[in-house]
Amino acid sequence: GCPGRLPELKGNIRVLCRLRPGTPSSLVSVEPGPGGTVTTCYRGRHRRFRLDWVFPPDASQEEVFRELEPAVLSCLRGYSVCIFTYGQTGTGKTYSMEGPPDDPGIAPRALQSLFREMGAGRPHRVTLSMVEIYNEAVRDLLAPGPPERLAVRQGPEGQGGIQVAGLTHWDVPNLETLHQMLRLGRSNRATAATAMNQRSSRSHALVTLTLRAASPPRAPSTAGSLAPLGTLHLVDLAGSERARKAGEAGPPRGDPDGARRLREAQTINRSLLALGGVMAALRAHRPHVPFRDSQLTRLLQPALGPGTTAVLLLQISTRPEDLGETVCSLKFAERVG
Ligand code: ADP
Ligand code: MG
Repeated sequence: GCPGRLPELKGNIRVLCRLRPGTPSSLVSVEPGPGGTVTTCYRGRHRRFRLDWVFPPDASQEEVFRELEPAVLSCLRGYSVCIFTYGQTGTGKTYSMEGPPDDPGIAPRALQSLFREMGAGRPHRVTLSMVEIYNEAVRDLLAPGPPERLAVRQGPEGQGGIQVAGLTHWDVPNLETLHQMLRLGRSNRATAATAMNQRSSRSHALVTLTLRAASPPRAPSTAGSLAPLGTLHLVDLAGSERARKAGEAGPPRGDPDGARRLREAQTINRSLLALGGVMAALRAHRPHVPFRDSQLTRLLQPALGPGTTAVLLLQISTRPEDLGETVCSLKFAERVG
């Protein structure tokens, strides 16, 4: 790892930016590195966006993970850590988060790094859960049966606030099991996607790793004894393209599929807007943080409060035809970072 490269992680939202590889365009140019910039030229107007870190156009998976590793490992020191991939569909969110088998992305690398750091006689019990949020419905990607819609409720005071009724939490004794479960959840997401027109790009996928004390204390009723020691959330967000694009003039009459697509786009829009609203409120230390505006922000409420770490990996395209979306993504980053 490279601790120290993102030194002030605690309680902050950091925004990192990665470009989708492809023909570079004179309309999107970058100055990589810490405090790097992305400059866009859209409709004749130049805008420069500064981010916490900009990766060079050809950045490898390893290079990306190197910047995230300190945040990942901070969950071993008791922090709640949240890593998001944000951007238009096709810009590489899933590639960065999961990666192909021969070039793994953030999730497999994070798990490997965590297990390596914990060592053989590790003091932690690790549990895994994986959900998909699609059209504000939360589904368990690791449930033994067919994925059912789960209810999200306010939990008992002092236990992180939120409970997802019936969500399975799997004990993961070793790294191999963890990778297997991750693959299972991923294939469940892909199966659902095929059944419903590429829904994976329209859904948010959340992988949550929770670390608890390995042996429960003598008195399990002691308040807080079961509280997690640390939590890592890895969130592959739905495509951020605006509803405008998916259903510009509204669905053609008698086209149920068009109506569904429009509704999807609007729901995604709302939950990403809610995420932006929550992050902006936290950043400005506003007394009211609108966690309840979407299922995504409700679920992540315990992970985004004070004393937590969030990293947003912004994925952008350099293609001229994507420029409007690229500017929108950068504006989102500007608002939250
Ligand atoms: P998203 O999840 O944002 O919709 P994907 O991760 O599915 O986008 O990426 C779209 C396509 O681009 C995929 O075929 C993916 O393999 C490819 N791709 C994305 N980023 C990279 C990269 N850094 N290197 C090589 N291929 C990439
Ligand atoms: Mg994807």
